[in-house]
Amino acid sequence: MTILIKGAGVAGLTAAFELVSHGFRVEVYEKAEEVGHGASHYAGGMLAPWCERETAEEAVLTLGQSAADWWEKALPGQVSRKGTLVLSTERDQSDLKRFASRTTGHQWVDAAGIAALEPALEGRFNRGLFFAGEAHLDPRRALQGLYAALLASGVRFRFGAEPAGLYACTIDCTGAAAMGNLSGLRGVRGEMIYLETKEVTLSRPVRLLHPRHPLYIVPRDGHRFMVGATMIEADDGGPISARSLMEFLNAAYALHPAFGEARVVETGVGIRPAFADNLPRVVKTQQGFAIAGLHRHGFLLAPAMARQLAEKLSVNDRRKSA
Ligand SMILES: Cc1cc2nc3c(=O)[nH]c(=O)nc-3n(C[C@H](O)[C@H](O)[C@H](O)COP(=O)(O)OP(=O)(O)OC[C@H]3O[C@@H](n4cnc5c(N)ncnc54)[C@H](O)[C@@H]3O)c2cc1C
Repeated sequence: MTILIKGAGVAGLTAAFELVSHGFRVEVYEKAEEVGHGASHYAGGMLAPWCERETAEEAVLTLGQSAADWWEKALPGQVSRKGTLVLSTERDQSDLKRFASRTTGHQWVDAAGIAALEPALEGRFNRGLFFAGEAHLDPRRALQGLYAALLASGVRFRFGAEPAGLYACTIDCTGAAAMGNLSGLRGVRGEMIYLETKEVTLSRPVRLLHPRHPLYIVPRDGHRFMVGATMIEADDGGPISARSLMEFLNAAYALHPAFGEARVVETGVGIRPAFADNLPRVVKTQQGFAIAGLHRHGFLLAPAMARQLAEKLSVNDRRKSA
């Protein structure tokens, strides 16, 4: 019988992809009219397990290290493996040292090393950390890619109205919308903006450390840059605040003054679903399972959660046929 996946964000689409490749028959139901409408739409798309270890548990590193390979295999050509550059202003060098002491997988780079990696930043920073093993992708393109691949393999998508059919089980991948159903799940507000300018070229995500508002800039095609992201303990999906917008723009300007002339082409807010330990899980539910709590690591950790789900369903299947 068919498995119903509810929610076509990164959790739902990676789960569908993984289940199909394990031979399960799946159908996907998305409440919106298109895939990728929740927090996934606003993500930076960084696959940065070493950097994230600065504030996250060890599991984020161990589960996240294979993410870039998973995405590359699923969507050949969409993963950019150029690492992450972490910088701070001269005044905030202690933040850089602290970041280095809390992470692994990096090397120190001097001004010449920074300029070699990102010529646009030549002469602007004296020291930085380079995490060569990290990668990034464009989340919107990646979700469209999974959607196309799933359609091509015969997966049926239903949008808008919940299907009434009979299913073997339901996998809840509804992100923050599962807050009422899954105990302990909370929402963490994340604001972001898109800037557009031809005056700056970056090849990889750049993180700028700052005591109050650490920021990252992720380059996209079309001279666009995703700048993010706040972490606010609230499930308020209302528009970006003036303060966050100012802080993003100040930080982008500190990274390169040419961002001062950039166009602000989009602002957005996503609600990250998170448990108290900020780690995701595959949770048993009455109807089946849920993949929940991806927090700020949806693209990084959804492949590992999808694999865990496939394993649990395969075990169930083996038990039934034994
Ligand atoms: C600003 C920002 C930056 C981020 N940057 C990164 C990053 O660089 N790297 C990274 O790995 N992660 C990042 N994240 C985190 C990542 O976006 C989230 O962890 C991830 O999107 C959560 O995925 P999800 O599929 O669980 O939920 P969502 O993406 O919210 O998807 C849930 C889907 O379910 C649908 N839905 C809701 N209710 C129902 C229902 N009842 N029935 C059917 N469908 C329903 C929604 O419409 C939506 O499409 C970022 C998040 C934010 C907000």
